[in-house]
Amino acid sequence: MTSRTAVIGAGLAGLSCARVLRRAGHFVEVFEADRIIGGRMGTMRIGVVPYDHGAQYITSRSTRFRDFIQELTTSGYAAPWAPKVKIGDSESYRTANDWFVGIPGMSSIVRPLAESVRIHTGRAVHTISRDAKGWHIWFEDQSNVGPFAAVAICVPAPSAQLLLGPLAEISDRLTRVRMSPCWAMMVHLEDQLLPEQDVFSDMSEVVRWIARNNTKPGRGTRGETVVAHASPAWTRETEDADADSVAEEMWGEISHIFGLPPVRPSQMTAHLWKHGLVDSSLGETFVFSTDDLVGVAGDWCLGRLAEHAFESGFGLGRAIVQALD
Ligand SMILES: Cc1cc2nc3c(=O)[nH]c(=O)nc-3n(C[C@H](O)[C@H](O)[C@H](O)COP(=O)(O)OP(=O)(O)OC[C@H]3O[C@@H](n4cnc5c(N)ncnc54)[C@H](O)[C@@H]3O)c2cc1C
Repeated sequence: MTSRTAVIGAGLAGLSCARVLRRAGHFVEVFEADRIIGGRMGTMRIGVVPYDHGAQYITSRSTRFRDFIQELTTSGYAAPWAPKVKIGDSESYRTANDWFVGIPGMSSIVRPLAESVRIHTGRAVHTISRDAKGWHIWFEDQSNVGPFAAVAICVPAPSAQLLLGPLAEISDRLTRVRMSPCWAMMVHLEDQLLPEQDVFSDMSEVVRWIARNNTKPGRGTRGETVVAHASPAWTRETEDADADSVAEEMWGEISHIFGLPPVRPSQMTAHLWKHGLVDSSLGETFVFSTDDLVGVAGDWCLGRLAEHAFESGFGLGRAIVQALD
């Protein structure tokens, strides 16, 4: 049997898994649906203006993730960000400690993990199937690649369930995971309009998070770039609305919260993270079947943070190495 492993999904979990496999001397190929890597660790560029529309910053609890952040800062892929944070209506604000951001954007966080790994972007996996030679990966255009000895499925839980198909033993365990959608709104303003603080959280029933993206190190954009995230409840209500109207509504809400003058932003758009935030996690680092040589990983295994995705992918990578060696 071949010792090639297929990783589905080039987010933090998938690439963390791929790096463990590659470092153990395994041949690994990553298949990513999007045109770019990083998943929810994303930076969207509109013209020359970058917006971190997914994860806003990273923090660490485990030694392993702290070491990874150290690696990122040493290699220039990340730097500390100490924004002034305002919560709700309180008059005061605090300065955040131990927050790190990707340089020049959040998507840089995954870059060192992707080095020397074979990644195929724009390849949405439809199904996986097995024959006597191993696993085959099928794409939406009916083409397939393989055989692979093992498969690591590193996508949000609802998508993982679809890919697991007949592997009910793993798939059934995922039913307890809950993920909710999240609208991200991005605005570019010629001048600073928002108050002095850099981050505002829990501002209203509609808007959960507002960040002055240009206050992160290394952004160097002219004017002001604002990223806002909608609350899960409001996102659920508006999930089917078109992105332009959502952006208009969220900007209207932000203008109302801060009592801003009626200014038309020079750029304004919204992006829906369909499976954005984890409401209820699996409570296990990853799931792996040694009989089938198929496993799943993602932030939703352990929690809702980037660190959880990294740890989950790492754990699955190690389990595959152990099973194949
Ligand atoms: C709005 C928002 C704000 C957040 N803020 C923070 C924060 O400030 N700090 C923090 O620590 N965390 C934050 N998070 C969470 C953090 O972004 C995630 O925990 C982490 O990025 C998840 O990584 P992952 O690899 O598990 O999943 P993902 O990043 O979702 O990666 C999965 C990848 O799989 C791909 N994929 C899916 N289906 C298929 C398929 N069929 N075939 C091929 N590829 C497929 C996707 O395109 C994606 O690239 C935030 C998330 C969101 C949405």
